[in-house]
This record gives sequence, C-alpha cells and structure tokens, in this order.
Amino acid sequence: MCSQKVPNILASERVPVRARSAGPWQRELQQAIRNPAELCGRLGLSACQIEAARAGDREFGVFVPEPYLRRITPGDPNDPLLLQVLPTAAEAETAAGYSTDPVGDLAAQQAPGVIHKYAGRALLVTTGVCPVHCRYCFRRHFPYDQLPRGVDAWDRALDSIAADRTIREVILSGGDPLMLVDATLERLAIRLRAIQHVERLRIHTRMPIMIPSRVCDALLRWLAAWPTPPVMVVHVNHPREIDAEVADACARLRQGGVLLLNQAVLLRDVNDDVDTQCALSRRLLDVGVAPYYLHQLDQVAGAAHYEVPIAQGRRILETMRERLPGYAVPRYVQEIAGERSKTPL
Ligand SMILES: *Cc1c(COP(=O)(O)O)cnc(C)c1O
Ligand code: SF4
Repeated sequence: MCSQKVPNILASERVPVRARSAGPWQRELQQAIRNPAELCGRLGLSACQIEAARAGDREFGVFVPEPYLRRITPGDPNDPLLLQVLPTAAEAETAAGYSTDPVGDLAAQQAPGVIHKYAGRALLVTTGVCPVHCRYCFRRHFPYDQLPRGVDAWDRALDSIAADRTIREVILSGGDPLMLVDATLERLAIRLRAIQHVERLRIHTRMPIMIPSRVCDALLRWLAAWPTPPVMVVHVNHPREIDAEVADACARLRQGGVLLLNQAVLLRDVNDDVDTQCALSRRLLDVGVAPYYLHQLDQVAGAAHYEVPIAQGRRILETMRERLPGYAVPRYVQEIAGERSKTPL
C-alpha cells in the first residue's frame, strides 16, 4: 500500500488569484499548498504518507509556499526540507514534558501582544500568520486569535513600550511580521521611531526564505528610513533552503543596510549532524548571513519526534568549533521559561 503513488491532479485545483492589485509575494501566499494530499501528490509521495499527513494536519494545518516546495526533492520522503513541513501521525502523540506554552510566553505578556522577558528587548507579536507551517513551531498553540488586530488596535502595546524607558530594542515577531503589508509595517515603524528610547528595530522572519519576492522595494524603503541599521533574524535550518532566489533576497536586504543573522532549530533527521551544520554555516556566510543561534527544540506538544539530545548537540558544536572560524559557529541555546536570557548549552 505504501508504494502506491498519488496522481498529480490536485495541482490544478489551486485557488484562483483574486486580488489584482496584490504583489508577487501575495500571489505566492494565495497559491501556497494547504492540503496534505496536494503536498504529497506534488512530490510523488505514497498514499500512506498522505494518511499520516492528514492526521497531523488536523492539529495544525499544512501550509507550504511554492518557492520552498521547488527546493524539495520529489519522491524523497526523508528530504530534510520536507520533514520540516509535512505533518505526521507522531504529532498527535503526547510526550512527558511537552506542553502548549513551553517557553512561558503567556505569563510574560506586559500588554496584549508585547512579550517582555529580557532586559532592554521587547517582542511585539504583530500577527499570528506565517508563510509556512513549521511542524515543530513552539508557537503552534499560541492563542493568536486573542491578539489585538491592526495598527490602531496596537495602541495599548505601543503605549506600554512608550511607558517603559528600559526598552531599547523592539523585535517584530509573530507569527511572521512580514505577512503584514508594507503600508501597515511602515505606519508601525513610524510610531516606534517616535518613541525616543527605542533605538533599534529587529525583525524575526522566515519570509525571505519562504517567499523571496517579499523582499520588495516597498519593504526596503521603510527599512531604510530607520535611523540605525535594522537587524533581521531569518530562519534557515538546512543549506538547501538557500537557492539563487533566496541569495538575491539576502543581497537586496544587505544593500538596503540590513544586518542579517540566522537562527536555526536543531531537528532530528533535518540537521542533526556536523556536516550539515557546517554546510549550513558556510552557505549562510556565502549569502551574507551570520549564524546567530542554534536552538534546542522547545518542548511544544506535538513536536517530540524532532528532539535531538543535548549531548549530541554539544558534540556537534564542539566539532564545528574545530572546523570553522569562530564567527561561523552559532550559539547553541535553549529557552527556559523564567530565565533572563536564552541559556547557553
Ligand atoms: C528570544 C527572545 C528575545 C531575543 O533574545 P536575544 O537573545 O536578544 O536574541 C527577546 N524576547 C523574547 C521574548 C524572546 O523569546
Ligand atoms: S515561521 Fe516561525 S513562527 Fe511561523 S510556523 Fe515557522 S517557526 Fe513558527
């Protein structure tokens, strides 16, 4: 039964493009794959994989944009890019220590949508949506539907940042903040810039990797208006995620004066060996992105099958330090609820 191939028919059922004014990146979002059978069908995977994917999809829906799909090797159920986005039955399993709010985000909200855990830095949850659904995501259960909506609804969040003079850096996060249109982000940036003590803007996003056309002129324009170089932390777990289009997007960001960093998550069968991690660091540096963090998996319910033991992670990092220049080795960290920074491992 597992060798049965799925006919490639679902691709033609794609949602037609409606909004004519939408830019290329919005069309990529509209055309993204949201159905486990279509994902498996497009990649020539077997029917049993579809069954497993359907089970996982009920917990957290499939969402894979085309530019990322093109980098996945068809017919390979173990492709490290596929493993990040294909649901499996294992997601329904419960595991000791795994919960729906593993890093204490709900307790750390200083105002709705403002997570303030670390000195000087406040994280603004701008939206709940993402250009991809990473199966191991630590916010897969975050109650995004209870967040304020729209820039005006962010008044309370911005007031709380304005009232706390210790906040020097605001991190736009989510979800993925670059899911918002540039007009909205620009208005938000203008309001943040008006707060004297906010010196730095940081953006946590997987968008330049998932949909490289998101790095458009409108985005670069409002980023360039920020008085200090904006910091963008992207999320790449495997060297093959960076193709020519992603490299171009990174080049545009750098030309736009953005400092690019990467955070990755250590994931079983995706990047849990020293060769892949070294190749990832080299590929990132080739496109001007500095490795920043390698995260130990957050223990979020449904993701236990991705966990790599910390001892193995430490061995990987040790060998990386022997093979690579210091700046190519990310900091291996874990987020522990209640701590005042990420914890180095
Ligand atoms: C990870 C995180 C940050 C950023 O931490 P850095 O070590 O500065 O990268 C800030 N706020 C929250 C809530 C975080 O989880
Ligand atoms: S892009 Fe980030 S926030 Fe969105 S699903 Fe992936 S890991 Fe989670």
